[in-house]
Amino acid sequence: MAKQPMLKFVTVERDMPEKRGAEARRQDFHEIYAEFADAKAKEQSGRCSQCGVPYCQSHCPLHNNIPDWLRLTAEGRLKEAYEISQLTNTFPEICGRICPQDRLCEGNCVIEQSGHGTVTIGAVEKYITDTAWDEGWVEVIKPSVERVESVGIIGAGPGGLAAADVLRRAGIQVTVYDRYDRGGGLMTYGIPGFKLEKDVVMRRVDQLEQGGVKFVLNCNVGVDLSFDEIRSKHNALLIATGVYKSRDLEGPGAGAKGIVRAIDYLTASNRVCFGDAVPEYESGELNADGKRVVVVGGGDTAMDCVRTAIRQGATSVTCLYRRDRDNMPGSQREVANAEEEGVKFEWLSAPVGFVGDPVSAVKVQKMRLGAPDATGRQSPEPIEGAIENAPADLVIKALGFEPEDLPSLWNQKELEVTRWGTIKAEFTTGQTAMEGVYAVGDIVRGASLVVWAIRDGRDSAAAILDYLSTAQAVAAE
Ligand SMILES: Cc1cc2nc3c(=O)[nH]c(=O)nc-3n(C[C@H](O)[C@H](O)[C@H](O)COP(=O)(O)OP(=O)(O)OC[C@H]3O[C@@H](n4cnc5c(N)ncnc54)[C@H](O)[C@@H]3O)c2cc1C
Ligand code: SF4
Repeated sequence: MAKQPMLKFVTVERDMPEKRGAEARRQDFHEIYAEFADAKAKEQSGRCSQCGVPYCQSHCPLHNNIPDWLRLTAEGRLKEAYEISQLTNTFPEICGRICPQDRLCEGNCVIEQSGHGTVTIGAVEKYITDTAWDEGWVEVIKPSVERVESVGIIGAGPGGLAAADVLRRAGIQVTVYDRYDRGGGLMTYGIPGFKLEKDVVMRRVDQLEQGGVKFVLNCNVGVDLSFDEIRSKHNALLIATGVYKSRDLEGPGAGAKGIVRAIDYLTASNRVCFGDAVPEYESGELNADGKRVVVVGGGDTAMDCVRTAIRQGATSVTCLYRRDRDNMPGSQREVANAEEEGVKFEWLSAPVGFVGDPVSAVKVQKMRLGAPDATGRQSPEPIEGAIENAPADLVIKALGFEPEDLPSLWNQKELEVTRWGTIKAEFTTGQTAMEGVYAVGDIVRGASLVVWAIRDGRDSAAAILDYLSTAQAVAAE
């Protein structure tokens, strides 16, 4: 009888792929985790306890069949593992790299809860699909029939691309419009290469293009083409434009030179990594080299900014966050990585003003945690008289993002939005108040995660296919 490859969590310890040393990581923008070796991937997959009711799967937004692909990996049946993995996830190797697994699949692994350390689900998911790419198992999309209906997608981020993939496989003519010059959305221009290398995203964009998805890039909808023009060209439309309006800092001096938005800073850095000419980087405006950098915020965007500044050669990098470490929204794994790379965290610290123009220091108000608010979260409150100056030549605002006012920008009063400005859409289908118009990803949820955008894109594509079939049936009557 074959040897049982699973349930090894008692005898085999949890192990992650090797992480590069902090000093080496500081020198470049390459990913910090190596790939599992084949034997290690098998060994780590074999730790899965094959639960009858797998909580990892129910807490994965895509409901990936995790226990199945872990078992197949442990048995060395990698191609089958890949086939199962890609049935539910459009970009498994991307999620394996950047999902906050501690809050999703791995955080709900039963063996983690019994104190044995979670199965390294994300790293195995990455390994399976990276291997599939290397082995040539990832194929160009070839629809078995071509259909006449066409769908326009505004936004080439993970939401738009996941929908494009499903629709194109069904033979629909798909055109994706984006105001950037490359596809991928925040996976390309927001998230830095040390979390997600850019060729990993670009090969997915190429795969879609080779499969017949048309990309119309450098096209800012509402400026270069009107929403109505696009709507008139297609049988259905999907809005997947994400959220890009940065929350601002207030206080005296907030308009000084040297205070910049995180999205501009990260986009410039990612462009430099592509080898693009970026005047704002060359001029020093969006470049941390030789500067004392202060980043304001405690989310994943702030973590990406501090670690980018380290790699650009900042002389010091400080992160200010108004709550404490336990109450920050960013991933603890990323905070630990940032600390290893030399970032200093000032918890319970809020900027209340800025010195100089160009900026030379941030006035920092020290805070304490007060009574819990309506959500149960302790609100930070200022400690009287506790203000100090933090020297800074570059201040990066990473306070989160809000939606742009699409109904006004696109002159579409019928497009209903919530009181937060996100598009009102049915959660399971993405259907908006306008006939044949759907919306997915951050523009519906507010700033969220890649994996949720993929889920929305896939669900909405299924709903669009139903809509197109119904419309065709009615036309035929
Ligand atoms: C710095 C940073 C780090 C992040 N790190 C992580 C992480 O580690 N893990 C994770 O899961 N998530 C992370 N996220 C969140 C994640 O990137 C987003 O939730 C996800 O990309 C949303 O996908 P989307 O398709 O809705 O929108 P986006 O990825 O934002 O894509 C929207 C696209 O629409 C285009 N667009 C917008 N308006 C127009 C217009 N008028 N005309 C034409 N095109 C338009 C944009 O150019 C863009 O390409 C991070 C976000 C940021 C900002
Ligand atoms: S998609 Fe994300 S949450 Fe789901 S299994 Fe993969 S890493 Fe975990």
